[in-house]
Amino acid sequence: MSKKYVYFFANKKADGSASMKDLLGGKGANLAEMTNIGLPVPPGFTISTEACIYYINHDSKWPESLDVAIDEHLSRLEEVTGKKLGDENDPLLVSVRSGAKISMPGMMDTVLNLGLNDLSVKGMASKTSNERFAYDCYRRFIQMFGDVVKGIDSELFEKELTSLKENKNVKNDTDLTAEDLKELINNYKIIYKNAVGSDFPQDPKQQLREAINAVFDSWNTERAVTYRKFNKIPDDLGTAVNVQTMVFGNMGNTSATGVAFTRNPATGEKEYYGEYLINAQGEDVVAGIRTPQKITNLEKDLPDSWEELKNVYKTLEAHYKDVQDFEFTIQENHLYMLQTRTGKRTGKAAVKIAVDMVKEGIIDKKTALTRIAPEQLDQLLHRQLDPEVEYTDKIMTTGLPASPGAATGQVVFTADEAEKWKEDGKKVILVRSETTPEDIHGMIAAEGIVTSRGGMTSHAAVVARGMGEPCVAGCEELKIDIKNKQFTVGSNIVNEGDYITIDGNNGNVILGQIPTVDPKFDDNLKSLLSWADDIRTLQVWTNADTPKDAKKAREFGAQGIGLCRTEHMFFDEKRLPIVREMIMSKNKEERKIAVNKLLSFQKEDFKGILEAMNDLPVTIRLLDPPLHEFLPQREEIKEEIIKLKYTGGDENSIREKEELLKIVNSLSEINPMLGHRGCRLGITYPVIYEMQIRAIFEAACELKKAGKNPRPEVMIPLVGHINELKPLVAMSKKIAEEVISSYGVTLKYMVGTMIEIPRAALTADEIATEAEFFSFGTNDLTQMTFGYSRDDAEGKFLGYYVDQKILPLNPFQSIDTTGVGKLMKFAVENGRRTNPELQIGICGEHGGESNSIEFCHLLDLNYVSCSPFRVPIARIAAAQAAIKHGDKRIVDVRIKKNHEHNKELEH
Ligand code: PEP
Ligand code: MG
Repeated sequence: MSKKYVYFFANKKADGSASMKDLLGGKGANLAEMTNIGLPVPPGFTISTEACIYYINHDSKWPESLDVAIDEHLSRLEEVTGKKLGDENDPLLVSVRSGAKISMPGMMDTVLNLGLNDLSVKGMASKTSNERFAYDCYRRFIQMFGDVVKGIDSELFEKELTSLKENKNVKNDTDLTAEDLKELINNYKIIYKNAVGSDFPQDPKQQLREAINAVFDSWNTERAVTYRKFNKIPDDLGTAVNVQTMVFGNMGNTSATGVAFTRNPATGEKEYYGEYLINAQGEDVVAGIRTPQKITNLEKDLPDSWEELKNVYKTLEAHYKDVQDFEFTIQENHLYMLQTRTGKRTGKAAVKIAVDMVKEGIIDKKTALTRIAPEQLDQLLHRQLDPEVEYTDKIMTTGLPASPGAATGQVVFTADEAEKWKEDGKKVILVRSETTPEDIHGMIAAEGIVTSRGGMTSHAAVVARGMGEPCVAGCEELKIDIKNKQFTVGSNIVNEGDYITIDGNNGNVILGQIPTVDPKFDDNLKSLLSWADDIRTLQVWTNADTPKDAKKAREFGAQGIGLCRTEHMFFDEKRLPIVREMIMSKNKEERKIAVNKLLSFQKEDFKGILEAMNDLPVTIRLLDPPLHEFLPQREEIKEEIIKLKYTGGDENSIREKEELLKIVNSLSEINPMLGHRGCRLGITYPVIYEMQIRAIFEAACELKKAGKNPRPEVMIPLVGHINELKPLVAMSKKIAEEVISSYGVTLKYMVGTMIEIPRAALTADEIATEAEFFSFGTNDLTQMTFGYSRDDAEGKFLGYYVDQKILPLNPFQSIDTTGVGKLMKFAVENGRRTNPELQIGICGEHGGESNSIEFCHLLDLNYVSCSPFRVPIARIAAAQAAIKHGDKRIVDVRIKKNHEHNKELEH
């Protein structure tokens, strides 16, 4: 039997269902599902994604049986509708739409009113007793077919329409008569023939065939490819094609078309949310050309349909148990469902909806947690306008609050400019009349988006919400003058490069730069995070170097500091001269003086952090970067010497600078990343580490004396050989014990190391004989495993590698599980074999990225450590990993488990 490529749906019965998204695409699967649950879906059929994949892989050829299958299903459709495609009396018209497995808003193409030709248009005119309407459909069909299927610039058609309106001296399309439209159609056909080289096809089956191919082809258009790349959607899914009986929202004032959400996708509020346009066709709402009405107005405009629609809201949520985003058409008071899909929502709404649905008994807590895309929380943790700053007099206009968060930046008017300015290190706000899928790259580059047209479901709004980027849409007062690169709002003129601020929470567009502040946690997020905490097994620590960051992270739920980078403390203006003094000292005595000065500073630093994290572990990493980073640049000193010489500067200053240059020269390295840094420095310049260790323990002992509970962990960086670690562990313990006994306190502490050099991972069994903890420094581990310098790779070839699929992902963002991950797994197993109690965490950037967190869960790490703002994200991601994998791990956990078991028996 030949493969089934076509799936039918009509009258409460469909071949497919919601679970068949792979095959039918999201739209097709849900059309089938809605049909099955009895919602009013116009009948039709779906051509599977497999047919599309076949077409793409076989040089634009259809699979053998597809032709016949489509004919058969078309006949069935004609039977259930009682109409025939191309009929001269009462023609069947269909829409042809794409629908991939994962929804790609605005990315794929649609053809409406297919089946119209010179004869069937007459049938339609007499059947509907509305000649004007029939010819309007026909002219739209020629335009859409020409544009979508044949790639004719739609401006050519638009121009023709505009000039006809001018000739006839009318303002609106609706003022054109049937006769005017017939004239327009003739001209459209000429445009078509000039562009394509043949007449507009009159055979409806040919129209259908070409439209189906156009949908298949649209899978690989540039904008679809860009969207997939940004959203990490695989390229080999293909799209399904939905062929569905047309219904008309443009048949007069008892007809309408609209888009709705079962809950408010911006705030999460349970309310009737949506927009509609009376007497309009589907695409008019999404395209944002006319500003639509609020859905609740429908009660007044079309009360019967409103009652039906309210029922749809209820039925859809009860069935799908999640927010639905649906499209409908009302044709002469009859409601039809054209699409439903899971509603995209802001981070804030996602949290509120998940928590509310648990409260309403619709879903359980675990399901609620899986409903959040952890990265989406970023939006909630996004910056808001500083409430202390008064700016109301600077508000130029207020549009629709399309996507939350506040942003400030320089105005640009095109997506290309946005991208260019971003590359130059500038922050920009993209201002457009409306956005289209071609603008995606600019939308990604911008801090925020403003549009002068379009509603809450316009392209700009939907895409910005998905990206978590602030957006203000439909600012009708804002007049853009693209030619002069400026916009005006009343008497305000804003030029390209001028600063504006936007607030996506209330739609304000503000002149100038307004400071933004960190947001606060709301109760819903707190509930959700507490559920996450009950489920996750990974702890979440933070990377913080200051008491302020430590406090913030603690507020966000951090359970420790996994990385306190001490070098940042050396760069402050009071310390840097002392650090330089230490580096340049000519003898031991001089060095000791400088080091002692630093000691008191460092002690205060550590005290602040240990106190802020009282009762929680604080991992302090001893100095890591090469020393020359603390000295001025060679070129700078050379210039200063030349200047001094030419301006007759005094001898002493010149000599001092020359001395400095000598030292800088002596410290300069060909490849500092692999040079004299980390523990190598600690071994060859022990004074620095000695000072730091002493500062850590003096700080801790003083706090202990004051009744606090500091928990320091000394971390030694860049170890590659056990013989590097040994002396430094000995030194740490010796100083620790000395200080502790001199203060006469008891203090628990740990000494451990980072695993960031492949050799350390490979010799983890040895390293674990000395280290009480491992912390994976996956930034360096990735650099050294790949042999890439991160800074060079990211700017030069990594983007290309990812684009070309040489690498599946940027390994500096998401752990390369098959390479770097293998080293980590090896280190965990061998480290724990030596020391079952070994504490293991991760403190590279990956510690805050959800896929990497899932991997860390599978490796049975104790914790992940990430920047303070990512702590809530990591808490949710860790819970999701636990929900997904439970006790399943990819490392041998028997050693640890046996050990824990034996320990329990001992007690
Ligand atoms: C690492 O290498 O992963 C790390 C945390 O250290 P740094 O980024 O400071 O080199
Ligand atoms: Mg490192």
